[in-house]
Amino acid sequence: MSLSVFDLFKIGVGPSSSHTVGPMWAAYRFLDELRQAGVFAQTKEVKAALFGSLAMTGQGHATDTAVLLGLMGERPDLTDPDQIQQRIEQLRQSQTLQLGGEHSIPFDEASHLQFMFGQSLPKHPNAMQLRAFDEAGIQLYQQTYYSVGGGFVLSEPETENAGDDRLRRDDDVPYPFRNAAELLQQCKTHGLSIAALVMENEKTWRSPEQYRTEVLQIWQVMDACIRRGCRETGVLPGGLNLKRRAAKLYTELTERPEAGFKDQLTVMDWVNLYAMAVNEENAAGGRVVTAPTNGAAGVIPAVLAYYDRFVPHSNEQGIITFLTVAAAIGMLYKRNASISAAEVGCQGEIGVACSMAAGALCAAMGGSNEQIENAAEIGMEHNLGLTCDPIKGLVQVPCIERNTMGAIKAINAARLALRGTGEHHVSLDSVIETMRQTGVDMQDKYKETATGGLAVNVVNC
Ligand code: SF4
Repeated sequence: MSLSVFDLFKIGVGPSSSHTVGPMWAAYRFLDELRQAGVFAQTKEVKAALFGSLAMTGQGHATDTAVLLGLMGERPDLTDPDQIQQRIEQLRQSQTLQLGGEHSIPFDEASHLQFMFGQSLPKHPNAMQLRAFDEAGIQLYQQTYYSVGGGFVLSEPETENAGDDRLRRDDDVPYPFRNAAELLQQCKTHGLSIAALVMENEKTWRSPEQYRTEVLQIWQVMDACIRRGCRETGVLPGGLNLKRRAAKLYTELTERPEAGFKDQLTVMDWVNLYAMAVNEENAAGGRVVTAPTNGAAGVIPAVLAYYDRFVPHSNEQGIITFLTVAAAIGMLYKRNASISAAEVGCQGEIGVACSMAAGALCAAMGGSNEQIENAAEIGMEHNLGLTCDPIKGLVQVPCIERNTMGAIKAINAARLALRGTGEHHVSLDSVIETMRQTGVDMQDKYKETATGGLAVNVVNC
């Protein structure tokens, strides 16, 4: 399976890649499948059922909204976040759904969209079933989808036939790699940096100019998200009554810039600000880049903004190198472990984002391939065992602050690696496998079910 950089970075909406972006894509795909089966026009009723983690934390993660939007023909990358609330309210008031934006069908949310609490399907903790019926109530079509992390969706037949391998074959690209050791070996054999090798592979799907444009667009969306997050005030939705903090911090930092000369660690405040701004936007259902998930969407933009604003001689090529190397590292986790918190806990979200950002910053600052691998390894090694226990099932606490921690840790990991020679004791492949095994051993209550950890020990108010 060869992944593209744009499989790791997708423009979408908050608050969750697996619980919002994935289910919206699944519902959108369901419409396509209805059309292909020739039953779209006859469909007069649709029923959706959410299983496992999608049921347990779906309300806090806006899975219900995502499914409804997808059934209305909305895509995560194109939908207007500012219109979402109004459209859902309209649907709820009228009890009518515009299927694919084309024809109206009655829709009573309580009976047509069901949270199957305590029930899971065997193949993945994030499962949903969609069924279509005609006017007489006869079932026309049904499909099961799995939201396997980072906005990736597999239908039941895809899991049976080829799993993720349906995406692309290894021999599609000139320099395939399955793990970090192979990536480093390919680079050594062909005399390429990690970024150069991945860009050669990307030529399989797009021209170098197109690649440059699309990668910079990813950075523009990340940067716009930071800027929006620094402006927006008020309380985040969902019932925790959590006040947004980024705008206040931004004001403090910009009102007295001279304070930064006295306190050398002010740069940490800025990195914290960038991460918080993105994740408050994510929690509010705003436009974010899934990187590699939404819950962890603040880590990579925060570290990249640090590179852009604070690293001497940073430039556009460095930004491209950063995102390319970050994606290369993300591919290793996607292939050999998981980027789904429902499978491996928060180590698969914040941990992976930290590892990606660490290697990416190291690369943008001129690190060797071995130093990059070292930085990525350090970024995960000290996130092993990190659980997912969001209070009230919302991507807010501990998630927003956890992004600041991931970003700061990534910068430290890059600096540690840059001070070394690239020689180190634990390989990136070993730490990825350790993360996978730790995820298997982790109890389900710590895997995005909001039934353990902070989710049960902190009173919701
Ligand atoms: S605790 Fe981590 S994995 Fe869980 S929702 Fe929050 S950011 Fe995502």
